[in-house]
Amino acid sequence: MATATKSRKSAGDGAVKTFQTKMLIDGKWVDSASGKTFATINPATEEVIAQVAEGDAADVDRAVQAARRAFDSGPWRKADARDRGRMLNRLADLIEANIDELAELETLDNGKPISESRHGDLPLVVDCLRYYAGWADKIHGQTIPVRGRYFCYTRREPVGVAGQIIPWNFPMLMVAWKWGPALAAGCTIVLKPAEQTPLSALRMGELALEAGFPAGVINIVPGFGETAGAAIVAHKGVDKVAFTGSTEVGKIIMRDAAKTLKRVTLELGGKSPNIVFADADLDSAVDGAMLGLFLNQGQCCCAGSRLLVEDKVYDQMVERLAAATTKRKLGDPFDPETQQGPQVDKTQFDKVMGYIDSGKQQGARCVAGGERFGSKGYFIRPTVFADVKDEMTIATEEIFGPVMQVLRFKSIDEVVQRANTTDYGLAAAVWTQDIKKAHTIAEQIRAGTVWLNCYDVFDAAAPFGGFKASGLGRELGEKALDNYTELKTVTVALS
Ligand code: ADP
Repeated sequence: MATATKSRKSAGDGAVKTFQTKMLIDGKWVDSASGKTFATINPATEEVIAQVAEGDAADVDRAVQAARRAFDSGPWRKADARDRGRMLNRLADLIEANIDELAELETLDNGKPISESRHGDLPLVVDCLRYYAGWADKIHGQTIPVRGRYFCYTRREPVGVAGQIIPWNFPMLMVAWKWGPALAAGCTIVLKPAEQTPLSALRMGELALEAGFPAGVINIVPGFGETAGAAIVAHKGVDKVAFTGSTEVGKIIMRDAAKTLKRVTLELGGKSPNIVFADADLDSAVDGAMLGLFLNQGQCCCAGSRLLVEDKVYDQMVERLAAATTKRKLGDPFDPETQQGPQVDKTQFDKVMGYIDSGKQQGARCVAGGERFGSKGYFIRPTVFADVKDEMTIATEEIFGPVMQVLRFKSIDEVVQRANTTDYGLAAAVWTQDIKKAHTIAEQIRAGTVWLNCYDVFDAAAPFGGFKASGLGRELGEKALDNYTELKTVTVALS
């Protein structure tokens, strides 16, 4: 295994001492064709962790050719479905065996608190791979009763080479969401991790080789979106693109994928309403609002960033949220007590600080946070804005940071109408003890996921994805297998 060694430059001195910094093409770790590298930064210290091979169109081409060969003529195509499942399980076992090291790597590169990466992200990664390992030998067609003396059946075949472009907010979990269904279905892969967080995907590549995936089945090309990412979308040898990221880039990908008529699935942004009625268990609603917004430094596509609170309990909720927010523990993400780490990079930090300024300027009342934390690292104090109006920028645009907007409502019809007044439709939540009200609103909200009296409950078996500008298609669950299969109809004359 060719592991490029770099000395560690961070707090949390633990298992991670070396980093894989090359790209994985055709089962080998290689430099970029151009020889170029880019720095990946520790967002808690602003120091360079490592220089990583920077892929561009030439590297994507090499990777696609390898994936094409592995799909069209390699052993992968002929492998028994059950063996594909076994390999996925082996990868899950290896991740579990190295779970502390992987959690540290994720925290180092992304900045998320170690308690989250170790007890949140990583167990979900393992679970997702095991879930799809179980599907590998259960992807089958149907027999169809057609007219006449014919035997008609369908086959579900792998779509081919899957180009997978992922973001930086849950780097390893996004790899698992993409690899699980693609590998179970028998596809081969060219993955581009986000430029901010390439290290954990590369480490997963090492473990995938150890698990026995044949050369060319999994290829990883780190690099930037406009070069490596765009090259994946443009390449004729790629059959399908799966993208998770911003709505803005999702539109570009859909447009560019049309030139080669690739299959496209998109998991994009959100401005999710989190609705709290006066009859809710308010202790749970406060906890749910905090989790729904502040998890992962607010860098979640499904963040409950519009907290709509019924008039009668509005002031009480604002007071409780401000108190709970002010108590949150910020700092070294390697400290097990830390609840909030830095934003992922300077660009995101500046963007979020810009939204905080706009909230103040447009007249929202800042009741907690509202400023930078410390002088080193991209830390922002968790922030709560009260008296937010629907038309304010902070109530309409995705902030992707630890900034909560609390809005006031009076009636069910009003809140449903306002909750749906957005281009997005990724998630929503409702807090009430009245189950009729909860289910009625669940029916009326235009979003791909609705949580009732809970938030951010994810399971590998439960589909996730967006209505409207929040995306196209669904990830997770049985549904995600459709993203990676083509349906073939075979008809046989019987007379
Ligand atoms: P964010 O704004 O949250 O950083 P992006 O949507 O810009 O999210 O990025 C998500 C992923 O998409 C990253 O891997 C990024 O490199 C990639 N990406 C960005 N721009 C493009 C593009 N034009 N074509 C293909 N991939 C892109």
